[in-house]
Amino acid sequence: MTNESPPRAWVDVSLEAIAHNLDVARQALPDTDLMPVIKAGAYGHGLEPVARRLDADGIAFFGVANAGEARRLSRAGVRTKPFILGPTFPEEREEIVLNNWCATISTLEEAEHFNRLAALYDKTFLVHMAVDTGMGREGFLPAQLGDVAEHLRAMSHVRVDGVMSHFPSADEDVPYTQNEIALFTDCVQLLQRRFRLRYRHIAASAGELGYEVPIANLARPGLLLYGVAPVASIYDGLLKPTLRLSSRVSLVRELPAGHGVAYGRTYITTQPTRVATIGIGYADGWPRAVSGKGARVYINGHYCPMLGRVTMDQIMADVSHVPFVSPGDEVELIGPHIPITEVAAKADTIVWTIFTGLGPRLPRVYSS
Ligand SMILES: *Cc1c(COP(=O)(O)O)cnc(C)c1O
Repeated sequence: MTNESPPRAWVDVSLEAIAHNLDVARQALPDTDLMPVIKAGAYGHGLEPVARRLDADGIAFFGVANAGEARRLSRAGVRTKPFILGPTFPEEREEIVLNNWCATISTLEEAEHFNRLAALYDKTFLVHMAVDTGMGREGFLPAQLGDVAEHLRAMSHVRVDGVMSHFPSADEDVPYTQNEIALFTDCVQLLQRRFRLRYRHIAASAGELGYEVPIANLARPGLLLYGVAPVASIYDGLLKPTLRLSSRVSLVRELPAGHGVAYGRTYITTQPTRVATIGIGYADGWPRAVSGKGARVYINGHYCPMLGRVTMDQIMADVSHVPFVSPGDEVELIGPHIPITEVAAKADTIVWTIFTGLGPRLPRVYSS
C-alpha cells in the first residue's frame, strides 16, 4: 500500500561526508587514536547509520551519552566498543559490565559497585577515571587522586585503563585551557605511577583543533565530524557539510498591505506581498528563536526572508521576488546556500543545539 503522504520536511544525510570529516580529524592528529562522538543520535544524523558507516574504521571507541545508546549500537551489530561519556546509574551497571562497554568513574562508590558486579561475573572490568580539571560536571578532583588511586589499586576486578577530562572553555579561553592542560598532565603523570593507562584523553573538537596535549593519545571529536569547526583552524576548508534540511511549499497566497503574518502579528506587510506557507516548524527543530531575526530560506534559486514567528508546524516566507513558486516546491532551510552556522547565529544559540534539535518527525534520507 503506497498511501504515504510525501514528506513535508526531511533531512538528507551524507554518510560519506561524515567519514570524510573523520579522515580530516585524523589528519589533524595523526598520532592520536580517535573516539568519534556519536551521542544524541550522532548529533541528529541517526545513531545506527552513522555508527555502521564509521565502524571498524580504525577507531578506539564510539562516544555515546548513556547505556541506552550503547545498547542500540550492540543491537545494530556495531563492533566498535561504546564509551559511555556521562556518569552511569546503578541499575545500568550490570548490563555495562556484562557487555564490556567502557564507562567512567568519578567516585569510589561507582568503582566499588563495578568491582562487585565484575567479581560476581568473574570478569575484569576496564574503567576510565574521570578527572575534573575545571568542567565541574564529573570526575575526581585532582587533589583526591593520590588517595583514590590506592583504593582503586586494591580492587580486584576493576582495572583503570584510562584517564579522561573535558575542557570547559577550549573555544573561549586560551590561557585557562593552557593551564588546564598543564594540570591534566600532572594528574596523568601521578596516575601513571600507579596504573598502566592505555588511554589518556581530554580534547573534544575545539581542543583537538586548537591545542597540543602531548600526554594525550586519544581525542573525542564530535562537532568536527558533522562538518563544523568550533574554532578557526587550517582544517576548516577541508570539512564537508553532512546534512541538508529541506521542506516544501504548501501554499502560495497574495496578502494585501497592512496584513499581519503569524502569531503576535510581529510582521505586518508594508505592500502587497506574495507569501509562501512552508511545511516545517519548531516541532521539527526549526528554532522559534529565529523569529524576527532576519532568518531566510532558499526557494527555486532565490533567498526569501522568513516572515513573522515560527509556528509549530509551519513558517511563512516572502516570495514576491521569486518568478515561479508553487505548492510542492522544495525549500532549503539548511544546506549549501544556508549554513547551519547562520541558523545558529540567528537563533542566538550554538550549532550543537540546532543539530540535536532536528526532531524525530523529520525522516532521515541517507546517501552513502
Ligand atoms: C559531547 C562531548 C564531546 C564531543 O564534543 P564536540 O565539541 O562536539 O566535539 C567530547 N567529549 C565529551 C565528554 C562530550 O560530552
